Amino acid sequence: MTTVDQAIADQGLTLPEVITGYVGGESVPVESNANQHAVTFPGTGEQIASLQEDDAAAVANAVACARNSFESGEWSNASTAARQAVFRRAANLIRAHATELALLECLCAGLPSSHLASRQVPRAADNLDFFADYIGVMAGETFEQMSGYQTTVTRQPAGVAALFAPWNAPLALASMQIASSLAFGNTCVLKPSEYTPLSILRMVKLLEEAGLPAGTIGVINGSGAVTGAALASSFDIDRIAFTGGGATARQVMAAASEHLTPVHFELGGKSANIVFDDANFERALDGSLVNIFSNSGQICIAGSRILVQRGIAERFMTAFVARTRSLTIGDPLDPTTEVGPMAFKAHQLRILDHIARATNEGATLLCGGKAPTNLGSGYFIAPTVFQVESNNLSLCQEEVFGPVVSIQIFDDADEALSLANDSRFGLVGYCWTNSLAHAQAFQRQVDAGTLWINTPLARDLRAPFGGFKESGIGRDGPRQAADFFTEEKATISALGNPPIRKLGQLSD
Ligand code: NDP
Repeated sequence: MTTVDQAIADQGLTLPEVITGYVGGESVPVESNANQHAVTFPGTGEQIASLQEDDAAAVANAVACARNSFESGEWSNASTAARQAVFRRAANLIRAHATELALLECLCAGLPSSHLASRQVPRAADNLDFFADYIGVMAGETFEQMSGYQTTVTRQPAGVAALFAPWNAPLALASMQIASSLAFGNTCVLKPSEYTPLSILRMVKLLEEAGLPAGTIGVINGSGAVTGAALASSFDIDRIAFTGGGATARQVMAAASEHLTPVHFELGGKSANIVFDDANFERALDGSLVNIFSNSGQICIAGSRILVQRGIAERFMTAFVARTRSLTIGDPLDPTTEVGPMAFKAHQLRILDHIARATNEGATLLCGGKAPTNLGSGYFIAPTVFQVESNNLSLCQEEVFGPVVSIQIFDDADEALSLANDSRFGLVGYCWTNSLAHAQAFQRQVDAGTLWINTPLARDLRAPFGGFKESGIGRDGPRQAADFFTEEKATISALGNPPIRKLGQLSD
């Protein structure tokens, strides 16, 4: 029995031989002539299931089902209290099934299971609880400044949302898309990445177990080029929320333009992690490691460009490389693993290509730089640190999306901030300093949607999240989701009988 079989047996699970979509509260039947993709465990490369691809007709069926569900009013007209109750029950079910969900996500994405169970799965539950709370307190607007009239602004759900989730944090990110759209009464069709279908499918079933009417969420499976493209170009969707890479986002936007479907994009980053001489050294070191090696480096908010001030540069680089060499890399099912494999083979090869280009362009390799040879056939990359002299290297300009970081030395705050902004991305930024002036300059001048000062990766769901420049369009967040997933309606009512101009009554 492999460790994968053992882990599945320990949870009392049986994986389907063929994973299919889930539409109208039922699994899509297996079709003998449908295209199939292998779903593999990144820790070993072994196939764990096949994924049946939904073609354009199957996607159209899922969209039609979500439309019917929307129009039935079962969810779109449900009371706020009813929606809150479903979200809260679902959040509790997700917490109760945390180990199972973490295993399903680990099997497909290869992320360390202990991190999944302790952070990412609870985050999915938190997203639902957060939106349950928010819809309980959100309010419309009333304007009474216009004499004789009262204007009220109300919202109604936009309709059917198409949701595209990536493979790097399937539950945490898909749950945000689901909570943000369903909270306001929309229905949706969700396309997980073809590499990571299992955990999302289970979460959707838990939502139904919690009372979500069947058909409110449809899940379609398959490659982006076939299934994703069919969903993005569907004429009968009202909103598109997409989390993924910029190249795909451009294709989705082109498809959406055909029907003028509004889009919300959460895209990539190449974020600066600035360490000033006056920082608390140990905190800056700990945080900088977390910022690049969390999620095995496959995270949009990675602090993948470390900028360190000259006075502490040698000490910082020596300590950073020593800690990087000591990271526990290996089987993601092992609870002690800190860095797991990359999610799929092509991604591992893409990262090795980035590493080769960095070396050819003159970056100095300090550690890592290859696929380890002692970890079998999993898709591993040794945690890699480069020192660079220039921010123009492809390593500093392109998102690697793996455990690979550059370190560049700077002399003063102006130089650090200008290097931080020298990027087509603008997702997040990190700054480590005990100087108020440095922190304030960073806060004012860095072009990024979220900034962290003296802390890694803390997320406040009340605050907007999203990117400047090519890191996205729109923001996650409660009010922001309400703005995107609802249509606002202004109603102007006469108070009493304000005068009406009399047309067609010619006066003498
Ligand atoms: P992709 O852009 O490759 O894919 C995202 C989703 O879109 C997947 O479900 C994919 O399906 C699908 N897709 C692919 N091609 C098409 C198409 N032509 N039409 C419609 N849908 C399509 O991104 P990744 O999955 O590689 O995710 C990594 C990227 O996501 C990184 O750039 C990362 O920075 C970004 N990201 C951004 C976050 C943010 O909040 N800003 C958070 C997390 C990740 P399939 O995989 O089956 O091909």
